[in-house]
Amino acid sequence: MRYSNYINGQWKEPASTNYSANINPHNGEILGEFPLSSREDAREAAAAAKAAFPAWKKLSFQQRAAYLQKAAAILKSRTEEVGRDLTLEEGKTLAEGIGETMRAISILEYYAGEARQPLGDVIPSANAQTFLYTTRVPVGPVGLITPWNFPIAIPVWKMAPALIYGNTVVIKPADSTPKSVYHVVNALHEAGIPAGVVNCVFGRGSIVGAEWVENPDIKAISFTGSNSVGCQIQERATARGKKVQLEMGGKNPLIVLADADVNKAVEIAIKGAFSSTGQKCTATSRVIVEARIYDEFRDMLIERTKALKVGNPLEKETFMGPCVSKAQRDTVWSMIEAGKKEANLLCGGNLLQDEETAQGYYIQPAIFDSVSRDARIAREEIFGPVIALFKVNSYEEAVELANDTEFGLSAAICTNNFTLVQRFVEDIESGIVHVNSETAGAEPQVPFGGCKNSSSGSREQGKTAIEFYTQVKTVYLDPM
Ligand code: NAD
Repeated sequence: MRYSNYINGQWKEPASTNYSANINPHNGEILGEFPLSSREDAREAAAAAKAAFPAWKKLSFQQRAAYLQKAAAILKSRTEEVGRDLTLEEGKTLAEGIGETMRAISILEYYAGEARQPLGDVIPSANAQTFLYTTRVPVGPVGLITPWNFPIAIPVWKMAPALIYGNTVVIKPADSTPKSVYHVVNALHEAGIPAGVVNCVFGRGSIVGAEWVENPDIKAISFTGSNSVGCQIQERATARGKKVQLEMGGKNPLIVLADADVNKAVEIAIKGAFSSTGQKCTATSRVIVEARIYDEFRDMLIERTKALKVGNPLEKETFMGPCVSKAQRDTVWSMIEAGKKEANLLCGGNLLQDEETAQGYYIQPAIFDSVSRDARIAREEIFGPVIALFKVNSYEEAVELANDTEFGLSAAICTNNFTLVQRFVEDIESGIVHVNSETAGAEPQVPFGGCKNSSSGSREQGKTAIEFYTQVKTVYLDPM
């Protein structure tokens, strides 16, 4: 089937007549064809978002919330179908695909609920007569550029706050996972959202995304993806006076102290590193273990990793599916090859070539030890199922090593030592901290984002999303 862009309330064929295949990473099957849109298509979407903005911002919050609620209900009625489509195009397991769809629904509901929350403050004025308060106004049409690894949750956690606070939207999903966003946009369309309020253009970031970064009708850009693309966008967008929010890479550490329950810590490491095939910005990629329990932890980790079921993500017993694409699998594979030269491969790391997986983009989860700090696998984001194991002699050494990275998205510690937990929360350079749980995992009602090179701009999700999608207006109200 051929899909279309969604511009000004209508499904519309792209001006360019080019399409790209949406491919199932499990077996290479073509799931559908999505437009490879041109700059002209992107400009038309920006113009539609600009035209729809004045009327949309004038609606009451509750009128806008009604569209989000309706879209959430429509998606809820199709949870299984949407979750399955997500799994088919991205490769995460069916439980993860359905779980992510449910999360997207819950984000829509959460931001519909924000319609009843206060917008500003009343502050006592120096002047007895003056009623002094703050309110917030939308930024304008916003451009949303999203990655493939959470193909429904990330687009929705940008669209829902953008819309509730009165902005109109142009969105470009990642090339390899367009169908998930198609479902969201279709639900908003069926919910009757006014024409031009949401526009979706499929295609290449370097064409569609680049147009919106430069187009004066788009007032803000929210981007999630790689650091190289994010930095480029920031430079170009800020040079044009736009607001920019970037969520980028991670190299997330899990520290396991000697008093931890080794069994539980191994479970936490495996879930954090290998679920969703390690393709999470918050995935665990460095595991730092105190010497006293190192050997026991390493041996248990290897044993459990070898027992994981890797294969068709639609099957119930599967723990880990394929990488999202051949290109991504090849990138992970090349990092594993680099790792073999600079560290000791303890298990996994091979391409899967059995009857079931030979046509797909599968790789076995890999564990390395004897990793030096300067090794590529210790420093670069791999975005695949790879753990670099480190042995340390103290809490201090563990935290110092954990912070020895350009990234700062998420970090976790396993221990019962409350004093060290408190120190960890203070010492660790990351935007998200987990104690006795995996580095991955984010609830929609709290802020999400990192420090150092992982993020730039205000945080996403929760109440904090209002910072990016609105501007503050301060009002001095005096009697005549
Ligand atoms: P990517 O940077 O290649 O692409 C992200 C999006 O940007 C895609 O839609 C792409 O088409 C678009 N794009 C590419 N070039 C562009 C350009 N020149 N101008 C405008 N847009 C452009 O990233 P990816 O491979 O899709 O995703 C993986 C990356 O995303 C990883 O680095 C991961 O850590 C990061 N990520 C971060 C978070 C977070 O919240 N911190 C969440 C998920 C993924």
